[in-house]
Amino acid sequence: MATFKAIRIDKAEKGTTAALVQFDEADLMEGDVTVRVEWSTLNYKDGLALTGTSPVVRRFPMIAGIDFAGTVESSTNPNWKSGDKVIGNGWGMGETHLGAYAEKARVKGDWLVRLPDGMSARDAMAIGTAGYTAMLSVLALENHGLKPADGPVVVTGAAGGVGSVAIAVLSQLGYHVIASTGRASEEGYLKGLGAAEIIDRNELSAPGKPLGKERWAGGVDSVGSTTLANLLAMTKYRGAIAACGLAGGMDLPSSVAPFILRGVCLLGIDSVMCPIELRKQAWARLSRDLDAAKLADITQEIALDQVIDAGAKVLAGQVRGRTVVKIG
Ligand code: NDP
Repeated sequence: MATFKAIRIDKAEKGTTAALVQFDEADLMEGDVTVRVEWSTLNYKDGLALTGTSPVVRRFPMIAGIDFAGTVESSTNPNWKSGDKVIGNGWGMGETHLGAYAEKARVKGDWLVRLPDGMSARDAMAIGTAGYTAMLSVLALENHGLKPADGPVVVTGAAGGVGSVAIAVLSQLGYHVIASTGRASEEGYLKGLGAAEIIDRNELSAPGKPLGKERWAGGVDSVGSTTLANLLAMTKYRGAIAACGLAGGMDLPSSVAPFILRGVCLLGIDSVMCPIELRKQAWARLSRDLDAAKLADITQEIALDQVIDAGAKVLAGQVRGRTVVKIG
């Protein structure tokens, strides 16, 4: 019996349990590509799955982990051969399909993206789903027509994974970035990433007016709830906010005023079922527009046996930037 190390989530009498176990290779799910996983990462959703805080996992037993980078071990998919370097993220991995916190993953070849030239597998997972979602948000803003000359952009949840990468990329592209954070102590970190201004997240979290002073032309929001409502209310005429997260809540207590009086657009960002062509574009842009030194600054490394503890910390907002997980 061939086994490998994996973090398995099981259903318990109350909630779920997570444990590092030996997983039987014969129990891997269907797929035409088997990947030797080298690196994974810790995202907010991984924290939810590991702690059982919300029903992310919809099949038991489940291997947790929503993203990986590694090397193809075997393939019957014509696009992939043994030795190819690949990135896999989303598509239900860690939710409905066995996930990434494991030495092996078997997936559909159509889900995979080739590791961009010059990007290491570790760097790809330092970026991870959070960083790729930040880039999907930037692409959506660009697609809307936003340019640095239009005015400042705001990034909420600034010291988190999505926020940190969004700041680094937007500042690299020439935007004046306003970073909203609850951690005043991270001012130096955020300015180092390229933030031009820091604001306290309390400024945006209380219920506000349907329309406020126009402060930014665009934004990347990973917080949701009243924060997103206030972002929209303070967006300039014909500006846009890319909404990708819910760290502050799932609700959106807003009005139509920003949409019908200022032509503001709310751009929805989903990373999980995102079409493959847009994924390839996002990863290519990350290899071009994310400064490698800044990526190194926001990244900390943990081992597979530290992931369960780290999952609780990410939900408590105690993790800064990105956490990469060494697997292989
Ligand atoms: P992190 O935990 O790394 O960052 C979230 C940040 O949000 C925190 O660092 C904190 O920033 C801020 N925050 C936390 N709690 C609150 C709160 N109660 N009120 C206001 N701000 C808060 O998570 P990620 O960056 O990985 O993910 C961010 C969000 O994006 C999550 O909701 C996640 O589920 C979502 N997401 C969505 C994806 C999609 O496909 N749409 C893909 C990836 C992520 P600070 O300390 O600076 O205030």
